[in-house]
Amino acid sequence: MAKGKIKVESGNIFPVIKKFLYSDHEIFLRELVSNAVDASLKLRALKQAGEFTGDVADLQIEVKIDKEAKTVTISDQGIGMTEEEADKYLNQMAFSGAEEFLEKYEKEGKEAGIIGHFGLGFYSAFMVAKEVTVISKSYKEDSAVKWVCDGDPEYTMDAVEKESRGTDIILQIADDSLEFLEEARLEGILTKYCKFLPVNIKFGTKSESYDDPSGEKDDNDQVKQIQKQVDNIINNPVPAWTKKPADLEDAEYKKFYKELYPGSFEEPLFHIHLNVDFPFNLTGILYFPRLANNIQVQKNKINLYSNQVYITDNVENIVPEFLTVLHGVIDSPDIPLNVSRSYLQEDKQVKQVSAHISKKVADKLASMFKKDRADFESKWDDIKVFMEYGALTDEKFFDRIKKSLLFKNVDGSFATFSEYEDKIKETQTDKNNKLVYLYSDNVVDQHVFIESAKNKGYDVCVFDTPLTPHYVQFLESKLENASFVRVDSDTIDKLIQKEEEVKSNLSEDQEKELKEVIESMVDKQSYTVHFEPLTENDAPVIITQPEFMRRMKDQQAMGGGGMMGMGNFPDMYNLVVNANHPLTSKILVEGDSKKKSNLAQQAIDLALLSKNLLKGEKLSAFLKRSVELID
Ligand code: ADP
Repeated sequence: MAKGKIKVESGNIFPVIKKFLYSDHEIFLRELVSNAVDASLKLRALKQAGEFTGDVADLQIEVKIDKEAKTVTISDQGIGMTEEEADKYLNQMAFSGAEEFLEKYEKEGKEAGIIGHFGLGFYSAFMVAKEVTVISKSYKEDSAVKWVCDGDPEYTMDAVEKESRGTDIILQIADDSLEFLEEARLEGILTKYCKFLPVNIKFGTKSESYDDPSGEKDDNDQVKQIQKQVDNIINNPVPAWTKKPADLEDAEYKKFYKELYPGSFEEPLFHIHLNVDFPFNLTGILYFPRLANNIQVQKNKINLYSNQVYITDNVENIVPEFLTVLHGVIDSPDIPLNVSRSYLQEDKQVKQVSAHISKKVADKLASMFKKDRADFESKWDDIKVFMEYGALTDEKFFDRIKKSLLFKNVDGSFATFSEYEDKIKETQTDKNNKLVYLYSDNVVDQHVFIESAKNKGYDVCVFDTPLTPHYVQFLESKLENASFVRVDSDTIDKLIQKEEEVKSNLSEDQEKELKEVIESMVDKQSYTVHFEPLTENDAPVIITQPEFMRRMKDQQAMGGGGMMGMGNFPDMYNLVVNANHPLTSKILVEGDSKKKSNLAQQAIDLALLSKNLLKGEKLSAFLKRSVELID
């Protein structure tokens, strides 16, 4: 058997790096600034360990553009490299000094939050530079080293003079990457990736105004403003999520939200501060936006960070789908970044992170309900779609929040599952001992039906999110002996069937006679004519749509869950004639055939109108006939 090591020819690897290391070339800046941050944090860690005695409070990183020389320079005042270290770290690809440092200074390094991992970041410089120069002076030495490489992959290394400790990385920008010499472009990249890095990053200067200390006033009687040039620091090195929740006021959380989403006018409803260090490291702040009934437009606003380095705003497969409607930041160095998205889902660590976040969010919601129910209820309309989404898709989440899930009825009063069951048990149990929950998904359109249910002493709750068809189905499976029926899906007596038989005023022959008249006036494909002995207070004709068929169609329309092909099925309605309404008898006994058909048509049209089904030509005919009938 032959054994050996695969040899990598570095001459072949550079073109590969240039093309494939990262699909986004702008990432080079994130990598190099992260290295500069690491170098600074390492120095702080050494100070902590007592191996460095200088000052580490004001370490700064600077990014500079020289348009004439066509260079971008990243300078830091960090740990620096000796000649030997430069040889080791820069001349051996994929050798991570960060890993090595962490092995040696595990505690201090972890506390400092050192970023590097793969030992490849530095080489991303070659994605945009035709030549890279590194000038570095280690904290340990007086002399400095200069390393130059044009990606050939030959390099040169010399001793040079450098005044201060730290490293300058000078990129001679390649002709196909000149965009990176534009200030706006670089500042854009810096604010995207480096906005919350833990060491101050200077990018040029900006002018700032302050009150004239003499207090002198201008023409408008305002204190004179004095302009001065100050360093343009592009980052906030101590973002809110890195602080302890106990040290933060509500206002600071709101302020940080604005920092994250500078353009947004909305204020979040509430926040959840994540802070775990075992068995994985996770910090972050999640904000609950005002969702109303919207779940689609707000997605993908959570930013994923790793040790304060921005990674992506796509957290798909890292947090459960329903949580992607939240806003905010998740920072976890334990989420592997060098694997494909589909693989992430299967990663054990990611699964734990995801389960933890889901639990935290559920716990927060449950505790809000417990602590201040009135406040929770006032937020309900903005969170219900999220609660439903979570309940539908995450069994554990449902179990955690089920005691805080609410029913809101058409009059705006709230009840938990068990409270609601108690409320309707007496009145809404049908003859088969099923508890019938009546709901409306549109209180305006279904007003007539809601009124008739209320008159009967029933309660109607509101489920009006896009998830309703799935949610009611889900509730039926979770609540014992429950059936959910939309309030307009049948006539009031059939919605909740009771024992008592109501007598019909019509004989079988009379029903048959009238049925023929009515059937001749409607499309028999869509409307099935029935007679029912309702009360005089109910409408003479009522149109209903059976719950089962409608729900299947709704589910189909919003994707998944329904029966195959149901979405294309025509809408089917019941046209119910109230046998006990005086108008019904009047139609029956009317001798004049024109008058008879006018009355019948009028009764049918009124029913269609109340369901919003009377349109076009038929509506015009109805209006004309109504005027004639007034005469
Ligand atoms: P990683 O950061 O993942 O360790 P890199 O390829 O980016 O890998 O860098 C390799 C090593 O080079 C680093 O671990 C570090 O030891 C050294 N290095 C890179 N940039 C700097 C810098 N600005 N100051 C000091 N050392 C640096």
